[in-house]
Amino acid sequence: MNEHDSEMIIGILDQMNFTQTENKAEADLIIFNTCLIRENAENKVYGNLGELKELKKENPELIIAVCGCMMQKKEIRDIIKSKYRHVDIIFGTHNIHRLPELLSKYNQNDEMLIEVLEDSDHITEYVPVKRKFSFKAYVNIMYGCNNFCTYCVVPYTRGREKSREPEDILNEVLKLSKEGYKEITLLGQNVNSYGKTLDSKLTFAQLLYMLNEVDGIERIRFMTSHPKDLSDELIEAIKKCDKVCEHIHLPFQSGSNNILKSMNRKYTKEKYLELVEKIKKEIPDIAVTTDIIVGFPGETEEDFEETLDVVKQVGYDSAFTFLYSIRKGTPAAKMEDQVPESIKNKRFQKLLDTLHPISYNRNLPYLNKIVEVLVEGTSKNNESILSGRTRTNKLVHFKGEKSLIGKLVDVKINTVKTWTLEGDLITTK
Ligand code: SAH
Ligand code: SF4
Repeated sequence: MNEHDSEMIIGILDQMNFTQTENKAEADLIIFNTCLIRENAENKVYGNLGELKELKKENPELIIAVCGCMMQKKEIRDIIKSKYRHVDIIFGTHNIHRLPELLSKYNQNDEMLIEVLEDSDHITEYVPVKRKFSFKAYVNIMYGCNNFCTYCVVPYTRGREKSREPEDILNEVLKLSKEGYKEITLLGQNVNSYGKTLDSKLTFAQLLYMLNEVDGIERIRFMTSHPKDLSDELIEAIKKCDKVCEHIHLPFQSGSNNILKSMNRKYTKEKYLELVEKIKKEIPDIAVTTDIIVGFPGETEEDFEETLDVVKQVGYDSAFTFLYSIRKGTPAAKMEDQVPESIKNKRFQKLLDTLHPISYNRNLPYLNKIVEVLVEGTSKNNESILSGRTRTNKLVHFKGEKSLIGKLVDVKINTVKTWTLEGDLITTK
């Protein structure tokens, strides 16, 4: 979501005739779009801002702006006001579209210009976007979150849940298809509750059926599904809509019912496992990925074993794993029994050691299979190797011409690794 916000910021600046540079010393304007989800993301921002002090001295005309989730917190704005006085503009997550006004309002000699809204009921449409790719695109379908998982800052930084009107989403997707985009990823903190704030009460499944009809779009992905709201209607839609990819990201966070309760996740281990079983039965080749938090307050060795048990029972294709990070202002930050770092780290390593062979095993059936790949670019280390993704979101490397970037091709897999598949190009579409 933050990446997509950055695409909007760049789109706005592009319309104002700014161009991008990789060289900080050359910039007239530097913007940091910040994240508050975990402490290390937060600390990085302070480090980056500190480094710019010298640059600002050398070039007083330079405008430094900070936006994003961190700026929604008053305590953090206060730290920036007192310790990073070389920052010129601060804005929040609800008023990105105000950037042109803020830049014109800002006067070099003035105080720091701060504009942050606590929340907003309004969704601003038609914000210009400069997308990173020309063939795959993020599309917001909703903003904010009402779930208040006890560890998470998102409901505080992104406000209450609100869905975009289906017509607005459809118009954006139609425009993308006209521009030649092949893949869209629908974004929301909990896409399963899409539509609840709309008069039409359109469901997420109904939205998928609608978008599945858009000519030119070949693949539809979505992120993220909260297990508590994943309906049978949605499973059927994933199965029936040919463009909806066979991949579901279904964060479970912890396998222990005590911890899940304390996290306010509103499902049990058993319910989660039942749900995955149902999905796998209906869509046999579906890839299942997840998010897991290690070391939530009160997590005992037994609780952690329950997490490992879920990992083994589900057999994830891959997982994002996180060490629990205390976020000020969330209920979990005040919980007693915070788990010591050394124990968290040990469990974390054990979790990775459990996950990796499972991911490898999940890749094994791909050997000698022909898979459809959307070519995304060249490999990081070798320009003659292309990389792309299967419908199940597996990363595939193969030899091919750069001109294939953005195209759908068939690749026969000849090597299987934990993180990647390798193969030979068979046909281009
Ligand atoms: N809305 C999505 C998640 C968004 S945040 C969902 O509910 O699935 C992405 C992930 O960051 C979460 O799934 C969680 O695993 C992790 N996360 C959030 N807050 C965290 C914290 N305080 N410490 C560690 N990980 C956290
Ligand atoms: Fe955070 Fe939970 Fe909302 Fe996801 S559902 S954004 S983890 S509060």
